[in-house]
Amino acid sequence: PPRSTLFPYTTLFRSIKIKEEMNLLEQDIMYLPGVGPRRKDLLNNELGVATYGDLLEYFPYKYVDRTKIYRISELTGDMPFVQIKGHILSFESHELSPRKKRLVAHFTDGTTICDLVWFNGVSYAAKTYLIGREYVVFGKPGVYNGRIQFTHPDLDDASQLQLNDMGMQPYYVTTERMKKAGVTSRSVEKLTKTLIGKLSQTLPETLPPYITGPLHLISRDEALRKIHYPKTVEDTQRARLRLKFEELFYVQLNILRYASDHRRKYRGYVFGKIGDRFNGFYAHHLPFALTNAQKRVMHEIREDVRSGRQMNRLLQGDVGSGKTLVALMAMLIALDNGFQACIMAPTEILAEQHLQTIQAFLQGMEVRCELLTGIVKGKQRKAVLEGLADGSVDILVGTHAVIEETVQFCRLGLAVVDEQHRFGVAQRAKLWAKSSNPPHILVMTATPIPRTLAMTIYGDLDVSVIDELPPGRKPIVTLHKYDNQLTSLYQGIRKQIQQGRQAYIVFPVIKESEKKDLKDLESGFEALKEVFPDLRLSRVHGKMKSKEKEEEMRRFVSGETQILVATTVIEVGVNVPNASVMVILDAQRFGLSQLHQLRGRVGRGAKQSFCILVTKYELSRETRKRIDIMCETNDGFEIAEADLKLRGPGDLEGTQQSGMAFDLKIADIVRDGQLVQMAREQAQKIIDADPTCDRPEYAMLWERLRALRKTNVNWAAIS
Ligand code: ADP
Ligand code: MG
Repeated sequence: PPRSTLFPYTTLFRSIKIKEEMNLLEQDIMYLPGVGPRRKDLLNNELGVATYGDLLEYFPYKYVDRTKIYRISELTGDMPFVQIKGHILSFESHELSPRKKRLVAHFTDGTTICDLVWFNGVSYAAKTYLIGREYVVFGKPGVYNGRIQFTHPDLDDASQLQLNDMGMQPYYVTTERMKKAGVTSRSVEKLTKTLIGKLSQTLPETLPPYITGPLHLISRDEALRKIHYPKTVEDTQRARLRLKFEELFYVQLNILRYASDHRRKYRGYVFGKIGDRFNGFYAHHLPFALTNAQKRVMHEIREDVRSGRQMNRLLQGDVGSGKTLVALMAMLIALDNGFQACIMAPTEILAEQHLQTIQAFLQGMEVRCELLTGIVKGKQRKAVLEGLADGSVDILVGTHAVIEETVQFCRLGLAVVDEQHRFGVAQRAKLWAKSSNPPHILVMTATPIPRTLAMTIYGDLDVSVIDELPPGRKPIVTLHKYDNQLTSLYQGIRKQIQQGRQAYIVFPVIKESEKKDLKDLESGFEALKEVFPDLRLSRVHGKMKSKEKEEEMRRFVSGETQILVATTVIEVGVNVPNASVMVILDAQRFGLSQLHQLRGRVGRGAKQSFCILVTKYELSRETRKRIDIMCETNDGFEIAEADLKLRGPGDLEGTQQSGMAFDLKIADIVRDGQLVQMAREQAQKIIDADPTCDRPEYAMLWERLRALRKTNVNWAAIS
């Protein structure tokens, strides 16, 4: 997507002087000295930089301290990037092959001699650098034939170097195409410095003093200059802080304004009473006491749905914390108030399991539950659709099929979305359109995400957390074993089974051909039958017919089989409290959240459970970290946080679809968590003080927000 123009029109800054400056920033990059047609093309297409303003917002990703000049005699081969100052004594050129040349410049600063070496751009270097002229050389020293050498160093004419160039040198991301055309980070640096030289006026401010003042943020003008042209480490820090905060602040302001608009626009259905359905269930069908966390969350939901506001709530809770039950009770409240409810799962298997769970809970009660997924077809589908339209279906369980246009409810009052990762703002909006008034919405996730990230991705939702597991559960013990320890592992499994427990064994792939040297379920199953000839084994994988799969699952659930051999189809939903062992083979193949989900299949009963991660011996550092984290903690939040740090938020499922997060230019939602929090607090204050966005003292913020929304694709998507 094209980057935004930095300073779109605004009525805020009336002074003529500033207007001129703004026009300068809208100037086509082509007019900047040093930019010809070829560079214009590269900047446009590779970096999305079309104007002066864009270039000003093309921030460096790191800095190298160039304040110190080393003596050649003190250099060693293991130093990082350094700079030296001196002159070239002579050149030496070698033909490595008819097409390959090597150019060596012997360089001295009076202390001793080192070599500067080029393999690429040989003729350019030979032409450009002159013997006897004083240069500042910047590069990574190495040792070759006992002599210090720099390969492809940066050379600057010492007489042309301004004092300021000797501060912190910014580094800019450049692409392969740019590098091929000889446009390097250094070239970008020169362009931004030229541009800053042209900015004679103060750049307009975009945050008001009542925000910048108390937080000690430097002005936008100072920040934009220093981010490209810092003299000290502190300069870079202060500039980054200011620009990061600003970026996060407007993201939060956008989200909160959206949520507050939404709140004012839509009235929520009022679920004023608790009736027979809920009370009957609570008194006669609930097989156990609710945990305190479940009670608290029920209370929060209850307050929402009777307030007259439309509920938009995210329910976070680790695997097995009992979210489904909370959802069911919320649905019963909807029913008690004359409404229908639906619950959506990401896969058909999960939807079917939800239906079973719900039907089991409601056995003996007069509640009509129906399933709607892609496999419900023909007559059956027609009957479900009719039942929805005439109001005779109370609870609909389904997949995304539920939000298709052909599905019309009579009076949908509550929609529950399980495992929201594939369910963003756009999908939620579709749900709102399902009835004249939007239904209340409860989004449930078992993959907790750190709070500050949730604030951004699901920033328009209120958050409830179930932070307590049902009583009597012992923390799962997680162990790491290597492939060659399988024999003792199998003995361990046998011991558990002798005590009456059951075990899962998970394979990464079904068939051998899929991936060489990975354990596959088909041959693994045969081998396991030989290891456990006296035991009964079930087998489940994604390529089986759903009838067959169900039958195999049923045998395991009923205790008829002791071992379930499976692929990750059992990842979510399956509930067998008697199972106490989860073995994951080739665990290096799985991501952290997947491992955590799989592990969540055990530890559901009162007995001690075990999760054994089996890997080959050779592991990458990242994999080893994943395994270590799994062995250290059962806490889903900790794992989610670690996962984010390992993978970065860009990979996180849901960030793309969410519509709320977009490519941030400088802030990092994970690393800058504290700033996200600060930004959110500030934004909330503004929204509270000016909910209808028309008070003059906040006009500048709303103008800026409108302008940003106009220019940024992702922001526009949610307006
Ligand atoms: P989640 O959806 O959060 O992963 P589930 O709703 O599937 O968790 O609950 C896991 C298991 O715990 C289910 O068997 C459920 O019946 C049971 N459970 C839920 N709440 C309680 C409770 N308060 N006490 C005991 N068991 C509970
Ligand atoms: Mg669940």
